[in-house]
Amino acid sequence: MLNGKAAIVTGSTSGIGLGIAHALGAQGANIVLNGFGEPKAIAALMAQLRARYQIEVAHSSADMSRPGQVTEMVEQCVARFGRVDVLVSNAGIQHTAPVEEFPAEKWEQIVAINLSSAFYSIKAALPHMRRGGWGRIINVASAHGLVASATKSAYVAAKHGLLGLTKVVALETARSPITCNAICPGWVLTPLVQNQIDAIAERAGISNEAAKAQLLSEKQPSLEFSSPEQIGATAVFLCSSAADQIRGTSISVDGGWTAQ
Ligand code: NAD
Repeated sequence: MLNGKAAIVTGSTSGIGLGIAHALGAQGANIVLNGFGEPKAIAALMAQLRARYQIEVAHSSADMSRPGQVTEMVEQCVARFGRVDVLVSNAGIQHTAPVEEFPAEKWEQIVAINLSSAFYSIKAALPHMRRGGWGRIINVASAHGLVASATKSAYVAAKHGLLGLTKVVALETARSPITCNAICPGWVLTPLVQNQIDAIAERAGISNEAAKAQLLSEKQPSLEFSSPEQIGATAVFLCSSAADQIRGTSISVDGGWTAQ
C-alpha cells in the first residue's frame, strides 16, 4: 500500500514508534527512524527493517526538544527519499510529580518533545506533502490527551494540546488528500511504562507482575496492555484509503480506559 512512499516516525528506536515503523515498513514505505540509543543497536534495528521488508531505512538522531533539529530531520528525509508522505509524531517522555513540586525544566522538556516537536515537524513536512499530492499526519497522543491523571500535569497538558493541534491541521488540509489524526493509546508495555511499573513495585514493595496488575486495574478495564503492533496497525489503517475522510479525530486503543 505504501510502496515508494517515505515515512518519518519520531521516537522510533523503541516501543510504540518502533512498532509503527515495522507496520509502515511492512506496507513498503521507506522509513526515517528517529530516536536515541546505542549506534550498534540502532544499526541492528535498521538492518532488521531493511531485510524484513526490502525497504530503505535512514536514521535521524535529531533531538525533538530542539526545533532546528526537528526541521533538519524532515529535510534529511527529503534529501534521502525526495519526498515525505507520512509523518508520525510519536516521540514522548514522561515525568510524574504533584504540580507544586513539578520541576520547571521537566515541564519545558515534556512540552517541547511531546507537543512542540509535532508543530515543527508538521510545519516542515506539510509543504512536501502538498507538493507530492498526498499525505498522512499521525500524532501519537494518549488516553491522557482525553482525560487526566494526578501527577502528570505536563504530560496531560501536552497530549491535550497535541489533540488541539491535530484538529487545526486537519481543518487546514481538509480540502486536500492530506489527513491529520491522532492515536490515543492506553497502557502499552514499553520502557516508558516499565519505569512507572518499577516505581509502583518499589513504593509498594511488590513484584513486577503485581505492579503491572495494579497499574492496569487502576485505569484499563480490559486488564490487558495494548501492543506496539496494534498501534502500528492503527497507523496503517489511517494511511489506507478507507481513512480518506477521517480527519481531525483521535482513535483510542486503550482497553476501555476513556469509556469510563
Ligand atoms: P519509549 O520510551 O519506549 O520510546 C520513546 C522513544 O522516543 C524512544 O525511541 C526514544 O529514543 C525517543 N525519544 C525520547 N526523547 C527524545 C527526543 N528528545 N528526541 C528524539 N527522540 C526521543 O516510549 P513509548 O511508550 O513507546 O512512547 C511513545 C509515545 O507513545 C509517546 O509519545 C508516549 O507519550 C505515547 N504513549 C505511550 C503509552 C504507553 O503506555 N507506553 C500510552 C499512551 C501514549
